[in-house]
Amino acid sequence: MEFVKSIKEFLFPQKYICLFCKDNIAIDNDYICASCRGLVEFANREIDLNLPNLEKVYYSVLYNRFIREKIHSFKFEGKSYLYKPFGEILLSTIMDKGLDKRIDAIIYVPIHRRKEAFRGYNQSQLLGEYVSKELNIPILKKHLFKVKWTKDQNKLGRIERQKNLKGSFKTNNIMEFKGKEILLIDDIITTGTTLEECSKSLIESGAKRIYGLALTSSMKL
Ligand SMILES: [Zn+2]
Repeated sequence: MEFVKSIKEFLFPQKYICLFCKDNIAIDNDYICASCRGLVEFANREIDLNLPNLEKVYYSVLYNRFIREKIHSFKFEGKSYLYKPFGEILLSTIMDKGLDKRIDAIIYVPIHRRKEAFRGYNQSQLLGEYVSKELNIPILKKHLFKVKWTKDQNKLGRIERQKNLKGSFKTNNIMEFKGKEILLIDDIITTGTTLEECSKSLIESGAKRIYGLALTSSMKL
């Protein structure tokens, strides 16, 4: 598939506009122009959060002003198309860490169906679908759900967050978790509580190992 894609790009080179600024042409096929790329601080960092149900946790770029604003647009201003450049950013971390060779499936942090209805999409699902398609690794879309309506995590302290999320996630079709190494995608890591709660459900449902990956992390490290 990759080969066919490169032949096609060679024969019919496509110019993509940068989706971050919509002013310039993207340098590669990653929807990011040179000037926006200069504002993205790539980190490809592993963070040690001591979360019992996660094998490893990574994030792609530093939480600077540019990224903070773009993630805000992605989540709250309806700019769902930003999954493309953000998806490319996640792919660069996946390749850098060799995760593509380890994982059997991709999953994403779900949001409550009422929130999804209001927003029109789940930004982490869009990221997961993009990465799944590019890597040709299956995505598990009918397997993890947020069933509890919870308070906004970023208004709470760490202990409160854990209490708030307890029992929030439910799994389905658990036969498909059995013995699998799964990449769990989220947009931003604040304390790691959400990733841990999701992973806990996945491990309890039979998954072998969970790797967490987010675009960025707002944690003071
Ligand atoms: Zn740009």
